[in-house]
Formats: sequence, structure tokens, C-alpha cells
Amino acid sequence: MREIGHFIGGKHVAGTSGRTADVFNPATGEVQAKVALASVSEIRAAVENAKEAQPKWAATNPQRRARVFMKFVDLLNQNMDELAEMLSREHGKTVEDSKGDVIRGLEVCEFVIGIPHLSKGEFTEGAGPQIDMYSMRQPVGIGAGITPFNFPGMIPMWMFAPAIACGNAFILKPSERDPSLPIRLAELMIEAGLPAGILNVVNGDKAAVDAILTDPDIGAVSFVGSTPIARYVYGTAAMNGKRAQCFGGAKNHMIIMPDADLDQAVNALMGAGYGSAGERCMAVSVAVPVGEETANRLVEKLVPKIESLRIGPYTDDKADMGPVVTKEAHARINGLIDRGVEEGAKLVVDGRGFKLQGYENGYFVGGTLFDNVTPDMDIYKQEIFGPVLSVVRAHNYEDALSLPMKHEYGNGVAIFTRDGDAARDFASRINIGMIGINVPIPVPLAYHSFGGWKASSFGDLNQHGTDSIKFWTKTKTITARWPSGIKDGAEFVMPVMK
Ligand code: NAD
Repeated sequence: MREIGHFIGGKHVAGTSGRTADVFNPATGEVQAKVALASVSEIRAAVENAKEAQPKWAATNPQRRARVFMKFVDLLNQNMDELAEMLSREHGKTVEDSKGDVIRGLEVCEFVIGIPHLSKGEFTEGAGPQIDMYSMRQPVGIGAGITPFNFPGMIPMWMFAPAIACGNAFILKPSERDPSLPIRLAELMIEAGLPAGILNVVNGDKAAVDAILTDPDIGAVSFVGSTPIARYVYGTAAMNGKRAQCFGGAKNHMIIMPDADLDQAVNALMGAGYGSAGERCMAVSVAVPVGEETANRLVEKLVPKIESLRIGPYTDDKADMGPVVTKEAHARINGLIDRGVEEGAKLVVDGRGFKLQGYENGYFVGGTLFDNVTPDMDIYKQEIFGPVLSVVRAHNYEDALSLPMKHEYGNGVAIFTRDGDAARDFASRINIGMIGINVPIPVPLAYHSFGGWKASSFGDLNQHGTDSIKFWTKTKTITARWPSGIKDGAEFVMPVMK
């Protein structure tokens, strides 16, 4: 059986804790590898390597640091097919979708090639008599990233690219479900010219996360995953004196106004609701048609499309979506569909019991549609994270707007309309971080920043964009005076500019 260890100090290192987890092929249910689960001492070994390498890397001029990312981007492009295949094999999503995962990470690596410009400080000449004031951004030292299973390429790169470009060393603790790609990315970073010890990948579970959160040498922690763990990581990191940004779960609504182009809205819902089997934090899981007529027409158009979804293993290049990630996820999603039925929602398309010939032990869930869902139901309140779309019918625009406004989560939301006034009002009033206007998955590009509101995010600074440069650096402000010829006495009052 293949054993996946760690990548520490520029080398593959076997696990020593004696604990491992199974890595499955979600399409067949077979165990395809074992991944090592790190102990405190293995995290410590990564930190020691990072500590030794970081000062020299921080002293490397930013243009040289940028060049590593130029080369890395080339390597990602050259190896795209292999990387996407590696990702799909453990995650289960289609290879084309996995390419999207890698490309969305690659784009952040392209963004940080601008690090010489992005990390420049500020300067004020003559802030006072013979006084200049300037600020500089210095790396936090050692940063850590804890990432979820659903984007094993994109999210690690969202974290390590800005952190490393800013002059930090980095410890990545990827999801134990699909650990191969993050290690491969670390190998490619070395090939691109990154010194050993700057990017370390340590596999593990809660024990590894806790070791990161309490390690005195780690200065900042970035987390993406479910909300309960995001809340825990944020609190524990803060209590241990670390800077933290933690991104959690979601329940993204898409509002369909009566004047929307319905075919466009239906296609958007299909891709955003069922792409990647609904395992995206920006997936649309709630459709809110405004008015009975819009709702009836929407459901009528959705049903045949959901029933004809092509579901298959990642090796089927015509598949629209693959299996969900684990047996537990499969059972949880099916359980929530049962719950929706008990709660009285109308199950229009039932994905339970979906079986694919030749893949009977795979974790497949068929596309599922509920109608007449109401806000008090568990299937509305909880993040299902599977191919299940709920229709909540709204009487008017204000009713529709109030649904995402009152929901616990605040990651993404979309409105489909031809009415510019409605779209503008919506974007201005909604209490959610990322908004799509006739765009179902409004994931901002690398040079803007990504982050939700409410229970979808803990901390102040977002992923990528200029926020990421702020997150991975500390500001130092210098007030300098060169008083040639000035002889003044001691000042005992607070200095102010007169
Ligand atoms: P998860 O919370 O189970 O795991 C995330 C990470 O936390 C993993 O590395 C895991 O090993 C670690 N972890 C798990 N349990 C832990 C514990 N008890 N203590 C400490 N660490 C622990 O999430 P997942 O199932 O891998 O990913 C899916 C979730 O991630 C969904 O809720 C999804 O919405 C969310 N997500 C959010 C975003 C975002 O940007 N907001 C992006 C992608 C995914």
C-alpha cells in the first residue's frame, strides 16, 4: 500500500507517529493509500526547518522571490494534466473541474509575482522639522495553513503563495482526505528554486492542528474548512497570541427575479448547485424564485436537467459531476435528504439510492431537488455540502432579500435580474461577503480578495488580493530625525505637530 508521508526541509519524510488514515478512491470506495498523521514532534521538526531557512529567504530581494513564482507558474502549466489527475483520484471530482481548482491557485501565484510592488512601504518626507516617517512591511516569520478537502490545490496555494512571497516560511497541514497534490506542489516549488525549509507539508489531523496552534514559533495561521473548526482554530490561535484568519461553511442563495432570463438562471443553478457534487463553499444550495409563476417555471425547467445529469468517476471525461468524498459524507447527505422529507419539504428529484454500474461501492449521490423548503427546516439551516438544491419560494423581492440576510452564513449570494435598480439595491443592502449579479459563483479573482461574513469567516483580513499581503506581514513604522544644526531642550509634553 502506498504511504504518503510529509515534506519537510525540502525532502520526503516518512511518518513516525505510528498513526495513519486511509485515503480512498471515492468512485470505488477502495483504499488507495495511507497517509501519515503527524505528532507534535513532526510539526516541531517542520518548524525547526522553517526557522533555520526563513531569515535568509526574508533577506532575498523581492524580485528574486517573485522569480520563483514565475517558474512555479510555468511548472504548474507544464504539469497540469498530471496534477489534475492526481487531485481527481483522491477527491473524486472530474479532471476538468480539478484543472479549475489548480488554475484558481495558479492565478494567486501569478498575482504574487507583483510582490516587489505589493510589499512596498510608505514614506512621508518632512512629517515634522527634519523628520521623515516611513513604514515597512516585514514577514511574520513562520506562517501555517490548514486546508479543507474540497480544493486541495487552490486553497493551499491561496495561502502559501502570498505568505512565501512576503518572505515567510510556511507549514501546510492539508486535508487528510486528498494529501497527494499538496506534496507535489511543494516538490514543484523546490524545482522552481525555492530554498529547502521554506515550504513544509505536514499531514495530520486534530493532533497536528493543535500542535500548530500552540507552537510558539508560528506567528500566523490561515484556516479554511467547516465553521465549528474555523471557530475553534480562530479562538485557539488568538489565545496563543497568533494572528488568524479562518474561513468556514456556507449556505449560498441565488435569487431569481421575475424579469430574469430564466434559461440563463437555470443553467447557472445547474453548474453552481451540482458542479463538484455541490462540494464547494461557493456552491449555490438555495434557489429563491420571486413569485409563484417564476417558481413554477423554474422548477419545471430544472427537473429534466437534474434528471439527466451525467454522474461518473473522474475517468469519465463526459461526467458533469463525480461522487462525494467519503462514505461518511455520503451517509450524512442521504440522512439530510431523509430529514427534508420528514420535515415536509417536497422531494421533486431524489438522488438517494443512485448506483453506477461497475462502481456500486462508490460514494455517489444523484442530483436532488427539494421544493417548498421553509427557513425553519434543518435542510435550509444546515450546510449539506452535496448535490442537493432547495427551492424556497418568496412572495416578493423584500421576502427574498430577507432570507440570506437572516441566515447564519454569509459567504456568497447571487441575484439574477435584468433590473439594474434591484441589483444595485441588493448589492448595497445584503450582509454577505461575495455577491454575484447574474453570476452564480462570484469567487473574486486573485487581485481582489475572497472572504465571507457572519459565520463564514472569523478574522479581519481576507484571502488573496492586497489583504493577503497585509495578513502575512507586520507593519513597522519609523520616525527619523536628522537634526543637523537644531539644538532644542528636553520636551516633557506629548509631541504634537504645531
Ligand atoms: P473540516 O473542517 O472537516 O476540515 C478542515 C481542516 O481542519 C482539515 O485540514 C482537517 O484535518 C482539520 N480538522 C478537522 N477536524 C478538526 C478538529 N476537530 N480540530 C482541528 N482540526 C480539524 O472541513 P472539510 O470537510 O475538509 O471541508 C469542507 C468545509 O470547508 C465545508 O464546510 C466548506 O464550506 C468549507 N470551505 C470553506 C471555504 C471558504 O472559503 N469559506 C472554502 C472551502 C471549503
